[in-house]
Amino acid sequence: MKIELKNLQKTYKGGKAALRDLSLTLASPSLIGLVGPNGAGKSTLMKLLTANLLPSAGEILIDGEPLVKQEKLLKASLGYLPQEFGLFEDLTAAQFLDYMAALKGIEKRAAKNEIDRVIALTHLEDKRKSKIRTLSGGQKQRVGIAQALLGEPKLLIFDEPTVGLDPAERVAFRNLFTEAAKTRLVILSTHIIEDVQSACDHLIVLDKGEIRYCGTPDELIAKKSAPSLESAYMALMDGRDHA
Ligand code: ADP
Repeated sequence: MKIELKNLQKTYKGGKAALRDLSLTLASPSLIGLVGPNGAGKSTLMKLLTANLLPSAGEILIDGEPLVKQEKLLKASLGYLPQEFGLFEDLTAAQFLDYMAALKGIEKRAAKNEIDRVIALTHLEDKRKSKIRTLSGGQKQRVGIAQALLGEPKLLIFDEPTVGLDPAERVAFRNLFTEAAKTRLVILSTHIIEDVQSACDHLIVLDKGEIRYCGTPDELIAKKSAPSLESAYMALMDGRDHA
C-alpha cells in the first residue's frame, strides 16, 4: 500500500490553517511515527487519511487512486483508533467488538474467531463479558485498539494509542505495533517520544501544520548530534539548531 499526500491543506471554518501544504509519500511495510506538540495538526491529518474530514486543498492518493473514490477499499483495509473514542458503554467488550466486526463487513462465523484473536492480542480475556462502562481508561483504550485490529487491516492508524496505558501495557503495545508493521502500514500519532524511539522506521515531526522533520529517528539523532531521540526532538522544536 502506498499513500501519497499532495499539497494537502486543511483550514477549519473560522480558524487558521491546521495543515499547510503537506506533501509526503508513505509506503508499507512500515511503522511511521507522527509526533508534534498539541495543535500541530496530527489529529487533523489522521482524520483526512481516514476520510473523516475532507481537505481544503490538495489530495490523498492510495495506490495511485484518489482516497475519495476508495471508500469501499478503505472500509475493508483500515483499522482506526481515533483520539475521542465513543464506546458503547452499555455493551460488553465482546458485544462491542461483534458490532464493530459487523460494521467492517466481517462475516458472522469469521467474526467469532477474529474477536477471540483481537481479545487475546490486547489481553482482554477476563474483560470480554464486562460492560465497557465498568472498564478502566487503559482497558477502554485496549478495547479501542482491539477493534482497530479486527479483520487484519492493511492500514492501521492509531491516534495517541498509548494514552491511559500503564508503562507495562505501553511496552506490550509497542511490540504489537512493531509486529503488525512487518506486513502493513502502521501510522502512530503520539506526543510521547518513547513510543516512537525504538520501533519506528520513519518519523514525521509536525509543527503548526508543517513538516519539521521527515526521516529515520537515527538520522534525526545524528543531525542534532544528540544523545537520544528525545533530546534531538527537543533541539528540533527549540529551533536552537537549524542545520
Ligand atoms: P494535534 O492533534 O496535533 O493536537 P489538531 O489536528 O487537533 O492537532 O489541531 C490542529 C489545529 O486545528 C489546532 O490549532 C486546533 O485548534 C485546530 N482545530 C482542530 N480541530 C478543529 C475544529 N474542529 N474546528 C476548528 N479548529 C480546529
